[in-house]
Amino acid sequence: MTWTALYLRISRTDTRLGVERQLASCTKLAESISGDEIRVYEDNDTTAADEDVTRDDWQRLLDDVRAGRVGHIVGWHQDRLWRLDRDFAELKKLIKKTKTPIYCATQGLIDLSNASGALVAGLVQQVSLYEIEHAKERMLEERTQRLAAGKWNGGKRPYGYDVVKLDSGKTKLVVNRREAAAIRRAAKSVLAGVSLRVAARTFGDELGITFLPTSLRSLLLRPSLAGIAVHRGEVVGRVEWKPILDEQTHLALVAMIKDPSRRAAGSGGPRKYIGGSLYVCGRCGSTMTSASKNGAKDSARYVCRSSNHLARTASYVDGYVIKIVKALLNDERVIRHFANAVQIDTSSLLDRRAQLEANQTALAGMVSSGLFTAEQARAGATAARAEIDEIERQLAAQARQSPSSAVFTAAEPDVAFDAADLSVQRMVLDSMISVTIMPQRSNRFERAAIKIAPKLDVELPAVA
Ligand SMILES: [Zn+2]
Repeated sequence: MTWTALYLRISRTDTRLGVERQLASCTKLAESISGDEIRVYEDNDTTAADEDVTRDDWQRLLDDVRAGRVGHIVGWHQDRLWRLDRDFAELKKLIKKTKTPIYCATQGLIDLSNASGALVAGLVQQVSLYEIEHAKERMLEERTQRLAAGKWNGGKRPYGYDVVKLDSGKTKLVVNRREAAAIRRAAKSVLAGVSLRVAARTFGDELGITFLPTSLRSLLLRPSLAGIAVHRGEVVGRVEWKPILDEQTHLALVAMIKDPSRRAAGSGGPRKYIGGSLYVCGRCGSTMTSASKNGAKDSARYVCRSSNHLARTASYVDGYVIKIVKALLNDERVIRHFANAVQIDTSSLLDRRAQLEANQTALAGMVSSGLFTAEQARAGATAARAEIDEIERQLAAQARQSPSSAVFTAAEPDVAFDAADLSVQRMVLDSMISVTIMPQRSNRFERAAIKIAPKLDVELPAVA
């Protein structure tokens, strides 16, 4: 089976509307070329002209083409596919073998498998490169000077800040409290294993805007949010406005978001109900799958995959099962079990974090009772904060290794479960319990007919 690969590189100058327009045109083009399934490859905010930037999805695309899985490649303009000679040469060599046609919404067919097609593409590339170099030269001097001083470069107001005009006529950036709080919350939930898709929706809802996952991705990766001034990929100093995130959080976000395994975890395809392929039919032992009549949500049922002999209303089963799962997530023994199972010793990290947090509360009490000066308390709190940040970083590193461990190591595992992607929720469920749907006589849903067996040595919690 082959598919049509739709490759998008979102540049930092793109507006949301621009991205949507590119996606819409490319999708339309892809649909007109073949009836194959369309798979979207997307790299964000990385310029194809930078030597040291790796584009994860671009590499993934090349691998899939190499493996013969891609029938057609569709893009916006060849500039968005490649800009470096190196990339162009690699692609040309590959396409010569595979003969995969490339279609661009702004250019039509680019046939790299023959000499004249490659020549045209090469000329277009030379012109683009010239334009980039020329523009760079003009802008470089001024930008470097401003950025090295950590000054705002003007232009569109960055999220999290307001532009304030000073009496001198100059402008400066001040923190927009509402947006800053939303950014901090988004950062926290992404580090806890929530997908960018879900986090972006929450972020947008909070601010009453539509916010794409790709936009949240580039927002959270922005070094200036942590006070770091970066120019051409290098740290050139501190920005002169107030940071919204601390540096540790920034580094953890970069590590987390740029980790390709994160993407793999979420891309199991949309699955609407938590128990599909996990729940077992009590009549024959096959797995159950979810099915709905006319796609109506309330009529969805789990049905036996192998025979038409058992079905149960999905929302009732899931409602009960999820209550059990969350009750187990509140059980210290369960959390210890899974926290111990992960590779680094997260349980001692969790202990230490709890201790540090308790100390901070105690410290505040000692100040009010006169045992400590405010100065001493502040120094203590700063040190504790640094250690907590380090612990969070290690926990985030662990979370990257296993998406479900983000739930088990969260401060409130049941809350993290609610916020997690369905794919992660399924992993958590599957690691804790097995669910068998037994036959029942009456038409009313009976909890007793849902047999839940914990996979570790704890009794089934009673739930309301
Ligand atoms: Zn069955």
